[in-house]
Amino acid sequence: MADETQVDVVVVGGGAAGLSAALTLVRARRSVVVIDALEPRNGPAAGVHGWLTRDGMPPTALVAAGAREVEQYGGRIVYTRAESARRTPNGFVVDTDRGSFRGRRLLVASGLVDELPTITGVRERWGRDVVHCPYCHGWEIRDRPIGVLGSVHHALLFRQWSTQVTLLRHSSPPPSTEQSEQLAARGIAVVDGVVSALEIVDDRLAGARLDSGRLVPIAALAIAPRLVTRDTLLLGLGVETAEHASGIHVAADIGGRTSVPGVWVAGNVADIAAGVVQAAASGVTAGAAINADLIEEDTRQAVDRWRAGGFSADAERATSQRVPAARRHGLDSLLPMPPS
Ligand SMILES: Cc1cc2nc3c(=O)[nH]c(=O)nc-3n(C[C@H](O)[C@H](O)[C@H](O)COP(=O)(O)OP(=O)(O)OC[C@H]3O[C@@H](n4cnc5c(N)ncnc54)[C@H](O)[C@@H]3O)c2cc1C
Repeated sequence: MADETQVDVVVVGGGAAGLSAALTLVRARRSVVVIDALEPRNGPAAGVHGWLTRDGMPPTALVAAGAREVEQYGGRIVYTRAESARRTPNGFVVDTDRGSFRGRRLLVASGLVDELPTITGVRERWGRDVVHCPYCHGWEIRDRPIGVLGSVHHALLFRQWSTQVTLLRHSSPPPSTEQSEQLAARGIAVVDGVVSALEIVDDRLAGARLDSGRLVPIAALAIAPRLVTRDTLLLGLGVETAEHASGIHVAADIGGRTSVPGVWVAGNVADIAAGVVQAAASGVTAGAAINADLIEEDTRQAVDRWRAGGFSADAERATSQRVPAARRHGLDSLLPMPPS
């Protein structure tokens, strides 16, 4: 029986990026284990927006559907947290409380964490009426009174969705003369003072309470969290990270190849600005790039065997028999595997 803990690729993170990579790889007849802690970044939101044909689908439903598709082709999803990863002579080992998984390649698609401002109520309303991305939530809060925390750029952006935008300066410096003119010209009010808490009435945001006690009525608050990649495993493997204007991301080439051979990244861990579609696309790209990398290795090894005179139809057949049935070249049907 095949060793299910030894696979071609271990994927850490089963969001849009990791699952898209896994789907690409299993369809390329690679054995894949996806380890996922089931905390997609957009989990607090009611729906995923901007995904053509899936607009408004709940984030958890999206990843559940993606996981089923991966499993249909024989991919395995293990719902737990990857605690650590280390290099071995033949690849990598990823440790979890459900055992260790060994892969010839490692793809980390662990996403990022939005570091929220420490204002009472922000965490509870995050993804509902406290938002960050107008393309994700702008339509849902259109024409409502929107407070924007500390960012002139964000205030001008959200003005596209509502005429009732207030810039809450909070701890940011006063706008420059040019910015003040822009804000005035767009009808955006500026309120001085630190926001200390959000006022919630009937499970809806009703206002921002300032340190002075003043209540600014708003129905939505736009914030710009600091974006911090979930990169603990990668740093442990020596992968380089880079500073970005609004956070930290992992340095990688366009296909997701990092500075450490055999380690790949996709989604928000590599591109903090990526939405769901971009994260999925980068997963597909990384999946194809990893497959190409494995093909190079397979070919190199085959040539070595060939040169050593080890090639024979019998030897190839024996190798084929060691590969799980659904992935044997030319021997399986084209139908997907039933769910395992
Ligand atoms: C509130 C909110 C709403 C959003 N709405 C939209 C929207 O409408 N449209 C849009 O395009 N984008 C939206 N986004 C952005 C969207 O969430 C990201 O683009 C997308 O989630 C990135 O996908 P990903 O696969 O890179 O990461 P994620 O979706 O975050 O997936 C990463 C996965 O890795 C897992 N993981 C992390 N570390 C480990 C570990 N050590 N072991 C195992 N598993 C691990 C996590 O649990 C998670 O399941 C929103 C973001 C937020 C915060």
